[in-house]
Amino acid sequence: MELKICHLYRDVMNLSGDRGNVTCMVKRLNWRGIDVFTAGVGVGQSLSASAFDLFFIGNGQPFTQPLLLEDAAQKSAELRAAAEDGAVILGICGGYQLLGRTYEENGEIFEGLGLLDVHTKCAATRLVGDYAFTCEDPETTVVGFENHNGRTYLGEGVRPLGKTVQGHGNNGEDRTEGARYKNVFASYAHGCLLGKNPVLCDHILQTALIRKYGTAELLPLDDAQELAAHRYMENRLMK
Ligand code: GLN
Repeated sequence: MELKICHLYRDVMNLSGDRGNVTCMVKRLNWRGIDVFTAGVGVGQSLSASAFDLFFIGNGQPFTQPLLLEDAAQKSAELRAAAEDGAVILGICGGYQLLGRTYEENGEIFEGLGLLDVHTKCAATRLVGDYAFTCEDPETTVVGFENHNGRTYLGEGVRPLGKTVQGHGNNGEDRTEGARYKNVFASYAHGCLLGKNPVLCDHILQTALIRKYGTAELLPLDDAQELAAHRYMENRLMK
């Protein structure tokens, strides 16, 4: 078995160490004897989306990088088709905003990749801090750290990734956090997300393996340290 991971815009969406999510996915696959091929596809590089099983976009300031937005406009049709076809995609914070339809700042509206029916408005204040949310699919609690001035609102076509128990999530108003559409996952959680949330990580990996091979049983790993970190934050935030 092998998964091919595309780290999209590794060159310009690299603000918060969220590339650790890619390291985490690679390790958890390798530890189970599953091969991984990883490639970075950045601005100006051509993308053949069907060559990959899983895409990752980390945090950055997409909407203040005109070169990136021009490039994203070139890649959006290919990525939208991949998402519709069930490709697994994970976007974090600025990467999440970029997966959406639009981003509004000072009255100006910028087009995103349009994979998710969400729009984001830039506000004057930032939503910052450790936070936690509950997820239904997979059924788990997720802990993370948020830091964003974007307020994201979900459209009809998407559901939230989870519901905040502590912290702000998408917009600080409706308790939604992140977004989920088909096999596209998006979240504001840094920290990084997958390292201390192994249940979510394995769900994402399993989704990609099942799509590719029809079936996938992930061997259990010794997650004592990951779960200790997870529980420590869960206890701190949810009591
Ligand atoms: N511009 C985005 C925001 O703050 C994402 C980047 C960031 O600094 N977190 O909402």
